[in-house]
Amino acid sequence: MRVMAQVAMVMNLDKCIGCHTCSVTCKQAWTNRQGTEYVWFNNVETLPGQGYPRRWEDQEKWRGGWERTRSGRLRLRAGGRLKKLGGLFANPHLPELGDYYQPWTYEYKNLTEAPAGDDLPTARPVSQITGEPVDTIAWGPNWDDNLGGAPAHAPKDPVVEKIRDEVGERIRFEFEQSFMFYLPRICEHCLNPACVSSCPSGAMYKREEDGIVLADQDACRGWRMCVTGCPYKKVYFNHATGKAEKCTFCFPRIEVGMPTVCSETCVGRMRYLGVMLYDADKVGEAAAVEDEHDLYPAQVDCFLDPHDPAVAAAARAAGITHEWIEAARNSPVYDLIATYQVALPLHPEYRTMPMVWYVPPLSPVVEAVAATGSDGEDAGNLFGAIDALRIPVEYLAEILTAGDTYAVEAVLRRMAAMRAHMRAINLGERPDESVARAVGLTGTEMEDMFRLLAIAKIEDRFVVPSAARAEADALADTHPLDAPCPVGDRPEPRVMLNLGPTRRVS
Ligand code: SF4
Ligand code: SF4
Repeated sequence: MRVMAQVAMVMNLDKCIGCHTCSVTCKQAWTNRQGTEYVWFNNVETLPGQGYPRRWEDQEKWRGGWERTRSGRLRLRAGGRLKKLGGLFANPHLPELGDYYQPWTYEYKNLTEAPAGDDLPTARPVSQITGEPVDTIAWGPNWDDNLGGAPAHAPKDPVVEKIRDEVGERIRFEFEQSFMFYLPRICEHCLNPACVSSCPSGAMYKREEDGIVLADQDACRGWRMCVTGCPYKKVYFNHATGKAEKCTFCFPRIEVGMPTVCSETCVGRMRYLGVMLYDADKVGEAAAVEDEHDLYPAQVDCFLDPHDPAVAAAARAAGITHEWIEAARNSPVYDLIATYQVALPLHPEYRTMPMVWYVPPLSPVVEAVAATGSDGEDAGNLFGAIDALRIPVEYLAEILTAGDTYAVEAVLRRMAAMRAHMRAINLGERPDESVARAVGLTGTEMEDMFRLLAIAKIEDRFVVPSAARAEADALADTHPLDAPCPVGDRPEPRVMLNLGPTRRVS
């Protein structure tokens, strides 16, 4: 057993209201500058929809992630070194600006500085890259937001295309017959990152101390193999610097015990941050299991129980501090993934072993049952209705469990049971323990799960180890900001982009 620790995230899709605050605050923090106009480290997609960049889930086209060979080994879908060498100067598997969007702004000055006259001044759209007027704005990073243009665009969702034969009429895009939910996305900070293995310069790396995947700006040579290699399309090319950039998991904040910007500013309070301990020796085998349906349980099997004394001892022996082990024990992410088993990985079939997981949306079930005149919170009604979900279970399964509907149904049943249990309590009734038992939990666990999912306070949602904070405070005490610089004038602060400590996982 080789114990390693990683900061990970869970997002509860039932609580995302699609406000895009996370995207905007992330952009303000990280990509509000020349060269990254089109870049959204965090974006929020409406599903069904094509996403950003357009149709990113179509790996036949983009060749992202890993595939399993007949001999059971993993190889990059985009090919090995020789193939990469051949595509150095003409890589056909790279999204173009049109696949993301042409970033634009408006000539606002026209509105405020136009001389008085008979005509109303207008603010024409202009490209943020060239400054030239944009004739037609035809696509954007959230163009199909709230199913805008769904009859035209949503059928091109790669997941819809894949399951259309299977679910037929249950996927509809006419008004009032469609379904939708939001999917906020950041880099997955994968355990088996295809971006790292794709980089010919060794610039992409996964930090040993917390698992955050970063792009070293000094080492990057701008080959963009990482952009192709990442199946989630979460590495971007900065056209001003000629380097790759990506979500940093806000490592300067994480290092001092603070949540990521997207988590802290989330209006729906749907994000959870915490430490996961895992057995690094198991990762390769788990990512290469033959049956795609086994990928989700295989990844769960890599995670270690931080309450197990043997795991804690092995973690200490591996140099993981007491604070990190304590944080892993209090991790809301561990609880949602392993204790309550309600969080699932995004597209496990890409075999990168992602570390941002999702609680699938249940709300439409309640609404669907209530619309038939039945009691939408009754456990019996809810369990029965999961089969007839307005969001087809097959659709959720293609996104979260490589198509295994049984695993998604199990999560939805647990969520439905929690609703029924809490409803009984709220009505002053005695909750029926058999409902909790039917989904493998106790009534007390139901109530704990409800507290975490519904009303958890900030310190329960974000458990980021304080060890880093203690070290940072100690450093600040040694070098207070207002102290005279021992070597002369204090240098201007350097803007750090994706540059973390250089300890790497080989
Ligand atoms: S999601 Fe992030 S860590 Fe995973 S392959 Fe893509 S860029 Fe790399
Ligand atoms: S801020 Fe939170 S609720 Fe709003 S879109 Fe982002 S994830 Fe969803």
